[in-house]
Amino acid sequence: MAVTEQSAHEQAVVDRVPKELYIDGQWRPGSGGETLSVEDPATGETLCEIADGQVEDARAALAAATDKQTDWGAHPPRERGEILRRAFEAVTERSDDLALLMTLEMGKPVAESQAEIAYAAEFLRWFSEEAVRIDGRYSVAPTGQGRVLVMRQAVGPCVFITPWNFPMAMGTRKIAPAVAAGCTMVIKPAQQTPLSMLALAQILEEAGLPGGVLNLVTASSSGSVMEPIIRDPRTRKLSFTGSTEVGRKLIEQSAEQVLRVSMELGGNAPFLVFEDADLDAAVEGAMIAKMRNIGEACTAANRFHVARGVAGEFAQRMAERMGELKVGRGTEEDVQVGPLIDADQRQKVSELVSDAVDRGAKVLVGAEPVGGRGYFYRPTVLDRVPGDARVLKEEIFGPVAPVAAFTSEADAIAAANDTEFGLVAYVYTRDLNRALRVIEGLETGMVGLNQGMVSNASAPFGGVKQSGFGREGGKEGIHEYLETKYVAINL
Ligand code: NAP
Repeated sequence: MAVTEQSAHEQAVVDRVPKELYIDGQWRPGSGGETLSVEDPATGETLCEIADGQVEDARAALAAATDKQTDWGAHPPRERGEILRRAFEAVTERSDDLALLMTLEMGKPVAESQAEIAYAAEFLRWFSEEAVRIDGRYSVAPTGQGRVLVMRQAVGPCVFITPWNFPMAMGTRKIAPAVAAGCTMVIKPAQQTPLSMLALAQILEEAGLPGGVLNLVTASSSGSVMEPIIRDPRTRKLSFTGSTEVGRKLIEQSAEQVLRVSMELGGNAPFLVFEDADLDAAVEGAMIAKMRNIGEACTAANRFHVARGVAGEFAQRMAERMGELKVGRGTEEDVQVGPLIDADQRQKVSELVSDAVDRGAKVLVGAEPVGGRGYFYRPTVLDRVPGDARVLKEEIFGPVAPVAAFTSEADAIAAANDTEFGLVAYVYTRDLNRALRVIEGLETGMVGLNQGMVSNASAPFGGVKQSGFGREGGKEGIHEYLETKYVAINL
């Protein structure tokens, strides 16, 4: 495609997305008439303006969700599932345009956006199947006299808040199980990447989701717009994906109404490579675990703890691979590394690298921003990173791989657990006994064993410690949206 043709196509894809709030089945402007700008992080240019919702809009969205709850909770599960199935098919069919849209607002290469669209769609398909499998139980009480009936019912109106790094999948992980369970909802995507969620809301509307079930509010003042509805007694559940810092505040706000809460928060994933590991496979897995989403993933390998005997070789091989990656605008062919989301994020990555270098880490490749437009940072490998470096302690959210050596299995486990986070860990070893010992010792909600990616709609995704609580996906995912009611029956 010629450059002008390509930009005309990009513009057309952006133009097709609704730019208003979606409340009670209607697309409407924000009550204040204000708009907010959505930027392309590869150029710093504005892509479009969208409605900037106010507190009144969030309240109207919650009112619509509340009004629709009884109806929707009683809607036939098969029909709820079929709406999700139609949405799955529409998302899959339109994945080229949706991927381009995502790349424009978030920056990741189009191939990675395609992968996210496929992942996001899987939640629609998985929960379309789970909608008809909500069950309970009936049993004879131990005394033999009474009976125990256990039933599951929709939790009620939910509030969802999602981050910019996976603009669609972080939405479908909540929306799909909520729809399947019979919950209504208000969702607020991140202001930096709202377009994918707006496109998804339109697809769900076309798939037959009744007005009021899903209400979408975009806003530039997330805190002041969302807090009143989190504290509102009509809300029954909050599900949040984002930073631990914001998660903590939202847990506090949720305490007022004692809301059911799911928190998918930050990570600091250790990637452990033992001496007996298949080093080719470990490097391959490390590249995926580190570089998926430009390193801007909660599951990103944040630090590489490698057995002393192979640490040098591992770091060198990582440096070769990282040095070969093509950095550029995600819409360009063959680009493997897009820009970071904004100037602040790039600055934070630069500071973490400088801190490690000041403390004695050795730069094998990268360690500098790319000049010119956009927020690009070179893929970086740091070797011999000392234990007190901030880069090992804080979530990097960028294309930086710090490598540190360990001497024993016990040291490796201790280093892996030396963090307040507990989302995921990666383990590379060919020794099954060691694998099980290490996995049992890791304080994380998920482990990738000899594989660099764990995300899978059919598995329970989530963390422990300050990475949060609750699980998204798998058989567990729908239970986040169901209450258990026990009935004691006297025969
Ligand atoms: P963030 O700053 O916490 O923002 C997440 C969402 O919360 C955005 O929609 C944001 O809106 C909103 N928000 C910010 N302050 C708020 C407040 N006071 N009240 C209500 N809403 C508020 O996180 P982020 O930078 O977007 O995302 C990166 C973080 O998400 C990383 O820590 C990453 O690990 C985590 N994450 C976790 C998972 C997981 O499954 N565990 C998955 C993906 C990402 P605005 O941005 O529009 O202000």
